[in-house]
Amino acid sequence: MIKKLDHIAIAVSNMDEEIKRYRDVLGLEYCGTEEVLGQKVMVAIFRIGDVNIELTAPTEADSPVGKFLEKRGSGIHHIAYEVDDLEAQLKDFQEKGLNLIHKEPQEGAENAKIAFVHPKSFSGVLVELKEKCQK
Ligand code: ZN
Repeated sequence: MIKKLDHIAIAVSNMDEEIKRYRDVLGLEYCGTEEVLGQKVMVAIFRIGDVNIELTAPTEADSPVGKFLEKRGSGIHHIAYEVDDLEAQLKDFQEKGLNLIHKEPQEGAENAKIAFVHPKSFSGVLVELKEKCQK
C-alpha cells in the first residue's frame, strides 16, 4: 500500500551551489548529504513538512542520473512514494502490468529499500517506491 509522498528528487550537476540555494535562499532544513553507492549518486536531503526534497548529483557520468543530466540538464528526476511493503507492492504492480525497472528491492539512501518504476507506466514520471528502514 502506498502511504504518502516521500520525496521529490532533483538532478543537479553542481551540488555545493544547489545546497546553498535550497538551504540559504529557500530556507529549507538541510538534513545532510550521503552517497548511495548502488545508484552512483550523492543525495542532499532537505525537509519540508513531512516531505523531502532530495538533490541528486551523479558520482559517475556513466550512471542513470549522469545520463539524465547529459540528455536533459537539471530538473525533476523522480518522485518517490513511501510504501509499507515494497516486495508486495512490486508484485502487485507486476500483476497490473506496470513496467518495473527493478523487480527486486535495491538499497537506497537512509538504508531504505527502493525500486524504480519506468516513466512509461506513470505519465512520463519516473517513480520510486521506498520502504523505510525500520531501525
Ligand atoms: Zn529518490
